[in-house]
Amino acid sequence: MIQIQTTKDIQKLMKKYQKEGKTIGFVPTMGFLHDGHLSLVKQARTDNDIVVMSIFVNPLQFGPGEDYETYPRDIERDRNLAAKAGVDILFMPSVEDMYQQESTMIVHVKKRTNVLCGRSRIGHFDGVATVLTKLFQLIIPTRAYFGMKDAQQVAVVDGLINEFFMDIELVPVETVREEDGLAKSSRNVYLTEAERKEAAVLYQSLQYGAQLIQDGERDPGVIKKQICSMLENTTGLIDYVEIYSYPDLESLETLTGKCIIAVAVQFSKARLIDNLIIDIPSRKEGK
Ligand code: AMP
Repeated sequence: MIQIQTTKDIQKLMKKYQKEGKTIGFVPTMGFLHDGHLSLVKQARTDNDIVVMSIFVNPLQFGPGEDYETYPRDIERDRNLAAKAGVDILFMPSVEDMYQQESTMIVHVKKRTNVLCGRSRIGHFDGVATVLTKLFQLIIPTRAYFGMKDAQQVAVVDGLINEFFMDIELVPVETVREEDGLAKSSRNVYLTEAERKEAAVLYQSLQYGAQLIQDGERDPGVIKKQICSMLENTTGLIDYVEIYSYPDLESLETLTGKCIIAVAVQFSKARLIDNLIIDIPSRKEGK
């Protein structure tokens, strides 16, 4: 595995691979790797000649009072995991290098961001879109891999790639979970033992919501209420329980088509998110 620290060096190396006509799979991360990240690498490994992973805790996507300073980091461990998983190039730039000039530009995302995480994390998706534009520009990947655990991020990246005519295939990858259903996340280490046990309810509540839909419920209000009452049994504070169309993230009076049920709960030191995407067939007249 080649390790690269500077934007200049990655650009030089990627140009060489592009000249050779290699396909390039890119997995952007903030590190503290777990099986979720590694499932993206596995998919990228299958699909491409070269796999590039970036590890960069991007200050631009953290708001004031969020966990930028305390975000878990363990570069040594990450290096080993990335190499074992089959990453060819590990790109770990510094903040100074990624944002070397006094920033005069950011990518402002106008759609799909006034709901879910975008509502409470003002500027978060501008930070994500800005850093991804820079990373895509440096790496020029054939395919980019993103986890559906961050389904709103996938919706935003989909818009970014399409609107800026980026010649990149977006590959969404299913959420990897712990045995009890909790979505794997770098932030899970910040749950207390008691919170870790409670946290399984996020996925259970989503499954319950999906079951209600399966049983014929189409009123999002009814489903959200049931999910809330399950989440209220935890010590965490509910940030949101929402159901929208996906990927447009628009409100629906009656559920139909591709929908997302999404939840966010703030525990003492970790804010957890999870979601399920459900395809709801439209009802035939008279049924
Ligand atoms: P992060 O390091 O949290 O920014 O995540 C890097 C990438 O890994 C993002 O595309 C995430 O959606 C994805 N990811 C994080 N957790 C999981 C998971 N449990 N399953 C699948 N993908 C994940």
